[in-house]
Amino acid sequence: MIEVSELSKKVQPTLTRHLFNLAKAYDDVIDFTLGDPDIPPHQAIKDAGCLAIQQGKTRYSQNAGLLELRQVISSYYQRTENLVYDPVSEIMVTVGAMEGLYLALLSILNPGDEVIIPAPYYVNYAQMTLMCHATPVIIDDPTSKDLTFRVEDMERAITDKTKAIIINTPSNPSGKIIPSQKIAEIAAIAKKHDLIVLSDEVYKCLIYDGSKFRSIVEEEGMRERTILINSLSKEFCMTGWRIGYVLAPEEVIATMTKLQENIAACVPLPSQYAAIKALGGEADYSGRMVEIFLKRRNLLVDGISKIPRLACSAPEATFYLMVDISATGMTSEQFAVSLLKEAHVAVVPGITYGKCCDSYVRIAFTLDENKIKEGLQRIHSFIERLV
Ligand code: PMP
Repeated sequence: MIEVSELSKKVQPTLTRHLFNLAKAYDDVIDFTLGDPDIPPHQAIKDAGCLAIQQGKTRYSQNAGLLELRQVISSYYQRTENLVYDPVSEIMVTVGAMEGLYLALLSILNPGDEVIIPAPYYVNYAQMTLMCHATPVIIDDPTSKDLTFRVEDMERAITDKTKAIIINTPSNPSGKIIPSQKIAEIAAIAKKHDLIVLSDEVYKCLIYDGSKFRSIVEEEGMRERTILINSLSKEFCMTGWRIGYVLAPEEVIATMTKLQENIAACVPLPSQYAAIKALGGEADYSGRMVEIFLKRRNLLVDGISKIPRLACSAPEATFYLMVDISATGMTSEQFAVSLLKEAHVAVVPGITYGKCCDSYVRIAFTLDENKIKEGLQRIHSFIERLV
């Protein structure tokens, strides 16, 4: 029997995956668990990937990714955000945002360093921090009712071991955007305590109703201490293509690139060519997503508000809806497991994202409208049977 590492034992599969795997036991399940859109990428993007394969563009690229793609990312940020990053030294292409986050943490953390993660939080942040022999410090107030965190609590958690803060805006799971005032406050404490900020912005492509988004990198003095993470997974529905990117100061990109040689070597080349097409600016290949997800969001919010004992507010962004189940008296895990067993509907228990979410379950509206309607009906009957 091979003895696996102590580090690996600290890392547990997430409840999201657990529910997703349990759901596989039923063949008629409505699966609201994974943030994996059902919509295919635009045909032009798929064609670009296929063409790369046919032309034999299937070898390794530079560890940081094709320079042509980094130039496209640089122009894309300049065009859409008015942010200037040098394609040679300040941009790296990664295997999804996931690898971007991991390589970034691996590049900055020493054993024992602390990373502040405000709840509700994307659970992989904590696991990745552990995988770097560092300590995740979760800011989680179980009495908080508004699915957000207080900057005072964040500042109170800072010690002499704190190295970084991870923020996610718009947020998975809450669907909230961190307001600009709060962004300024987080920037102020990062500067005061000399901390690095990892800003995961993979959902800024899915904002509804004209809500305003501000990146922390735009705050004065933040560019040199911010690692900005983004991805094509959500923006262009390219989850399985495994492609994302990081914009950061050159010393971080150089370190991440050096480490990449020993991890993935590079992102698969066909995905990189597809990304050049997606971000190149010839056409808007992602705008239609917002329309589709907005319709689904409205359908769900309307449906949930008609179900007794459930409540929700419309998310400002993302394709996630947090449903308040507190009136059922169940914990989020009890609710999710019995909903799956009795109604064959899979949702994620809020506790996955912190104690402050235990009176919620998360629904990902990455299913078509017919499935959403069927899911709503099943949830309605399930709740009626509880009474
Ligand atoms: N960050 C957040 C907040 C996410 O929700 C996800 C995917 N669910 C990721 C990062 C990872 O995205 P990618 O597919 O680009 O690795």
